[in-house]
Amino acid sequence: MCGIVGYIGNRKVYPLLIKGLKRLEYRGYDSAGVAILNGGLEVFKKQGKVSELEDFVAAAKPHGTVGIGHTRWATHGEPNDANAHPHQSSNGDLAIIHNGIIENYSALKQDLLNKGHVFQSETDSEVLIHFIEEIQKMHDCDLEEAVRLALTKVVGAYAIIVISKQDPHQLIAARKGSPLVIGIGKDKNEFFIASDATPIIEYTNEVVYLNDNEIALLTQNELKIKSIEDVPTTPYIQILDMELQSIEKGGYDYFMLKEIFEQPNSIRDAMRGRLLARKNHVQLGGIHKYLQNLIDAPRIIIIGCGTSWHAGLVAEYIIEDVARIPVEVEYASEFRYRNPVINKGDAVIAISQSGETADTLAALELAKSHGATIYGVCNVVGSSIARASHEGAYIHAGPEIGVASTKAFTAQVVVLSLMGLMLAKHRKTISEHQLSEILLELERIPEKVEKALKSNAQIEYIADIFKDARNFLYLGRGYNFPVALEGALKLKEISYIHAEGYPAAEMKHGPIALIDEEMPVVVIATRDSSYDKIVSNIQEVKARKGKVIAIVSEGDTLIPTMVDHVIEVPMTHEMLMPLLSVIPLQLLSYHIALMRGCNVDQPRNLAKSVTVE
Ligand code: GLU
Repeated sequence: MCGIVGYIGNRKVYPLLIKGLKRLEYRGYDSAGVAILNGGLEVFKKQGKVSELEDFVAAAKPHGTVGIGHTRWATHGEPNDANAHPHQSSNGDLAIIHNGIIENYSALKQDLLNKGHVFQSETDSEVLIHFIEEIQKMHDCDLEEAVRLALTKVVGAYAIIVISKQDPHQLIAARKGSPLVIGIGKDKNEFFIASDATPIIEYTNEVVYLNDNEIALLTQNELKIKSIEDVPTTPYIQILDMELQSIEKGGYDYFMLKEIFEQPNSIRDAMRGRLLARKNHVQLGGIHKYLQNLIDAPRIIIIGCGTSWHAGLVAEYIIEDVARIPVEVEYASEFRYRNPVINKGDAVIAISQSGETADTLAALELAKSHGATIYGVCNVVGSSIARASHEGAYIHAGPEIGVASTKAFTAQVVVLSLMGLMLAKHRKTISEHQLSEILLELERIPEKVEKALKSNAQIEYIADIFKDARNFLYLGRGYNFPVALEGALKLKEISYIHAEGYPAAEMKHGPIALIDEEMPVVVIATRDSSYDKIVSNIQEVKARKGKVIAIVSEGDTLIPTMVDHVIEVPMTHEMLMPLLSVIPLQLLSYHIALMRGCNVDQPRNLAKSVTVE
């Protein structure tokens, strides 16, 4: 997590860093800080959000055109001023910002303590800058070489930028396991560095993604990259396809609400050029060389975390249903540590919005080392998971800034549905007629999502009734079971209300004991093959005086007679229902959180891109 940003050029660096940090704040907001070179080295840092740093710095108005900035998601040491980045060397000449974890920091620190270093923070990151300082002293080398030598001794993950008072015309950046993008200024006389492209896009669309184990030396007019083994490499320049307005709120109060309402478009973008309903055809441009491996896979393993894991569960139901390939869905963090059976020939689908999720990346590498073929399903183009996969499909949801994932979930489900249908067609496990029915329905999903969004005001009304509840239960069956999990997760994440998602039929094996007149139960009861069964589950809840909010299909006349509140969504094919039934649940959590005074875009303790294990 953590967002890092750096600049070298002719612009005033402080406002540029602050703007960049605000764009990166979704990655962490425990503290923020900047270090600026202006003859000396000025460091400002403060616990809390970037706006608190701004207030703190207000009077100082730091000058300078070279600097670095950091917004933190704490791993080592609590969120306070001292642990905020940038961290400085003993003599105060060097400053570092770091995203990741230095796993062997404790041994390095002990050694440095023995040599007389004094530390100001409890972070692993501060150890690294002292270590670089020590190496520079020992080897009497330049700073770049000291950084390189230090990194050869470091275990863990990092994206770092280092600046020095002694070398005020350069920035040194390096990465291993955490992302870094370098932006090349239009006039080739400035460079930008950041954890993702959002702070850069306003200035340039020419970027270089730094690879793992690479070190970049940036001066105002030149970018040099070498490997950690000291071998120079040629920077590979890419052109970014991202618009500034897609990373701004565009009139909405919160990114989350904007992103919920963007779903008709983001879903369209996820299908564009892939779904050819008239020709009864599905194609994923990113999967061709390894398509046959996927078609022939004896088993598919899906790995992901959080919302991506829920999208994976929907995919399991779809792929098994239409393509008849056995699927297992695994939490990436469990998979990698439990000695799983992975056979050559297995296909692994790695799902991650950011494409940087550390656990998913590590699980992917494990599967790869056992001979599995990896298919990445990511949002961020050029991200680590996208690059580490054999092939894959981007979800094209556009930048998702709200920490609680919404449009990425629906775009993931669209891409995974296309994947399932593509496999079914190739494996001939679906009739042409069935395929055509589903594809035509899929094509209509964006307009149906638009319709589902029209319940916003009614959902706001319901949210007001239940905003003070202490617990919520979410129930669903079949394709709507993962949606129940996702609905509960959304509520937990942003409103801090305890919520559980359950398969509706499991309720009688335990959670039913929780139900009384205090307990709101959200039941996703759209018309599908388990409709009658879920109607019985609703009766069971009502018999125990639970308050039921039911998500039903348009025109349902039975369920409204039994429950306290109904929210309608349009009818669609059962397989595609998660794309509609999740919409009211996103809105419900949004309104409840807002009414409870929570910061919807930046919920406590969370960060969007989980680049630590
Ligand atoms: N380990 C560093 C810290 O705790 C950076 C954390 C991160 O990148 O999430 O400050």
